[in-house]
Amino acid sequence: MTDSTATTDGTAVIRLTAAETAAKIASGELTAVEVTEAHLARIEAVDEKVHAFLHVDREGALAQARAVDAKRAAGEKLGPLAGVPLALKDIFTTEGVPTTVGSKILEGWLPPYDATVTKRLKDAGVVILGKTNMDEFAMGSSTENSAYGPTGNPWDLTRIPGGSGGGSSAAIASFQAPLAIGTDTGGSIRQPAAVTGTVGVKPTYGGVSRYGMVAFSSSLDQGGPCARTVLDAALLHEVMAGHDPLDSTSVDAPVPPVVEAARNGSVTGMRIGIVKQFRGDGYQAGVLQRFDEAVEVLRGLGAEVVEVDCPSFDLALSAYYLIAPSECSSNLARFDAMRYGLRVGDDGTHSAEDVTALSREAGFGDEVKRRIMLGTYALSSGYYDAYYGSAQKVRTLITRDFEAAFGQVDVLISPTTPTTAFPIGERADDPMAMYLADLCTIPANLAGNAAMSLPCGLAPEDGLPVGLQIIAPAMKDDRLYQVGAAVEAAFVEKWGHQLIEEAPSL
Ligand code: GLN
Repeated sequence: MTDSTATTDGTAVIRLTAAETAAKIASGELTAVEVTEAHLARIEAVDEKVHAFLHVDREGALAQARAVDAKRAAGEKLGPLAGVPLALKDIFTTEGVPTTVGSKILEGWLPPYDATVTKRLKDAGVVILGKTNMDEFAMGSSTENSAYGPTGNPWDLTRIPGGSGGGSSAAIASFQAPLAIGTDTGGSIRQPAAVTGTVGVKPTYGGVSRYGMVAFSSSLDQGGPCARTVLDAALLHEVMAGHDPLDSTSVDAPVPPVVEAARNGSVTGMRIGIVKQFRGDGYQAGVLQRFDEAVEVLRGLGAEVVEVDCPSFDLALSAYYLIAPSECSSNLARFDAMRYGLRVGDDGTHSAEDVTALSREAGFGDEVKRRIMLGTYALSSGYYDAYYGSAQKVRTLITRDFEAAFGQVDVLISPTTPTTAFPIGERADDPMAMYLADLCTIPANLAGNAAMSLPCGLAPEDGLPVGLQIIAPAMKDDRLYQVGAAVEAAFVEKWGHQLIEEAPSL
């Protein structure tokens, strides 16, 4: 351990939860500057190995921390996360601070404005330490598609930390920040959470503003919180969520009472559905074993657990890999070398069209190009109905399966991802194998409901974290936290807090 700061009871500052950190700052036991410096020192000590960050904003973070300390000194009331450090996925624009989306095409771009999420974090006094690594344009499940090199999983640096938000999950699992932000189009918050033993939530579609969040697939993209505990995720959820007039798909309704739910975990009298489709070939034995134990834990806590049939979920992956690439091919057309980022061939001998083509050729990686081509094909006249149109019909069927299921149960559960963290390189040249990592997470994106992944023990065969997924109906995000907090408390009693006690120190 390289912590330079300890609290009065000797706990390392970097091991505190966000809730504990905020309380110690509010009481004056710690200053926001001390907390920020402890995390910057941790980044300095371990991030060369982990590579969670693409950019560390040392000065910006310390300035924000000083502002929080000044506010406290002036007797002003601090918000629930004031002074708490956070790692921000490099898909959210940050005024004057590099935003690359993991792509060479935006290398060197300094956004002229803050995303709504960035702005809300700053307004809440959250200290943004820097921007985290990700698969290019959030396309991937391992962070290996980043143009800036992969991130290691803090449990085993030779393995993937999940993706696309592997930098965010690795940052919190290696105690470089207690909080992070991710985005989830098909699983990129939940799958990284599962394989790093952390908590990740995809809020209801429209629950968190997409303004200033670089678009991949606009009808699926959703920002959300990443943390080491359910309560911390809820505190962050509340800060970042809520209606935003700058996002036309933002839900104009009160934020579900997530913090209250996280403080009152309980499943007594609840009906919980196991999705029948999320089991079988391709699921690691240890993942299913831990999942079955979680079901027993839920029964022991007083829930009624039943099996639920969602037959259209078998088609979700195929529908996703038509819809997401189609929307991406349209969204990424704006990277034309004229407005921002990389420009290749601007030497007076090339036409504007050639400059655009040369820049896109040099600036986009293989997976992004694969998706643009797939999407362009699926949207082309003559094929539109056969591909994109059919995928949209499947999407409706999936939504109906959810509606039928939520007529019978309060929440659904499944493993978050079929296996634990796989070795870096293992699936890098096999897109189909990579796509399978999101088998269980994609239906919630297609239907727009809320879903969480939380730690569910370690797989016996490899000692790596397993994730439990909870899915709730749209705008019932609080149910995730109510159930999640109950399960978390039961697991901590059973195994201790494994991330804090067993996670290998770097
Ligand atoms: N892994 C999925 C994909 O590659 C999901 C990515 C995401 O949620 N951003 O599209």
